Amino acid sequence: MPLPAFTLHRPRSAADAIALLDEDCLAYSGGTELLMAMRMGLIRPTALVDLKRIDELNTITLGADRLLIGAGASHDRVAGDALVAEHAALLATAERLVGNARVRAQGSIGGNICFAEPRSDVATVLVALDATVLLQSASSRRSVPATEFFLGPYWTAREPGELLTAISIPLPAPAGVYLKFQTVERPTVAVAAVALPEGGYRIVVGAVGDLPVSADYAQLTAVDAADLAARVEPVSDLTGSERYKRHVTEVFVRRAVAALAGGR
Ligand SMILES: Cc1cc2nc3c(=O)[nH]c(=O)nc-3n(C[C@H](O)[C@H](O)[C@H](O)COP(=O)(O)OP(=O)(O)OC[C@H]3O[C@@H](n4cnc5c(N)ncnc54)[C@H](O)[C@@H]3O)c2cc1C
Repeated sequence: MPLPAFTLHRPRSAADAIALLDEDCLAYSGGTELLMAMRMGLIRPTALVDLKRIDELNTITLGADRLLIGAGASHDRVAGDALVAEHAALLATAERLVGNARVRAQGSIGGNICFAEPRSDVATVLVALDATVLLQSASSRRSVPATEFFLGPYWTAREPGELLTAISIPLPAPAGVYLKFQTVERPTVAVAAVALPEGGYRIVVGAVGDLPVSADYAQLTAVDAADLAARVEPVSDLTGSERYKRHVTEVFVRRAVAALAGGR
């Protein structure tokens, strides 16, 4: 289907982009989701704000106690960045597994989480890493924990006039294991298992339900894979029934815990 007509703005700064954004004028990063949704008539913005020329949205920087990843950074960029490899290796691992070569080259980390397609590798890992997202509008700046940012399928805490400028990962970031099971596009089940810097462990199960499910444990031996599989709310679709997805969840939680325990 052809794209409907729209006005394209190409600002050079985040401030200029923010001044343009509203309910009818949307941010346009890689366009991998946005343009498809427009072609299908699911959304009908009158204007788009192209973020690709805004350098400040494409930087990855190290602060005193956080890693800041610009919302416009592509999956490939994040996967190959030296700072991400050193300080948040789990995110680099997940980013390498996103979609296909085209999606990784074109799609951005910010577009992934703003679109909030539930089958997201990125969302699963950001919850495991205790990340926060930085949102800026013409009148305010706020920082929202990843756990509060995702509200449901295609639904986030971001308001229409807000630009996601960056993702902030507190350091030291937990290290761990990321596994996903996938038969077609996008993961069916995604599991992040991490050792928390303050002690204890976190398991996050993503993709299988509408929102990532996260649980913390004092000991790795306390992880109950069957209990976690019972807590997720799988969406039954062509990639599997609810029962099947619960089973895969249990298997992948067990595998992730075994890999974390074995230091793999
Ligand atoms: C074939 C295919 C396979 C995929 N497989 C996977 C997979 O295996 N794992 C996975 O995790 N993901 C997967 N994805 C999702 C992919 O990661 C996203 O499509 C991509 O990251 C979206 O980024 P984008 O820059 O193209 O976003 P766009 O399409 O440009 O934007 C998406 C939405 O976010 C908004 N937006 C974008 N940037 C901002 C911003 N900075 N501030 C505010 N709003 C913003 C836009 O207005 C739009 O509503 C897949 C996608 C496709 C098409």
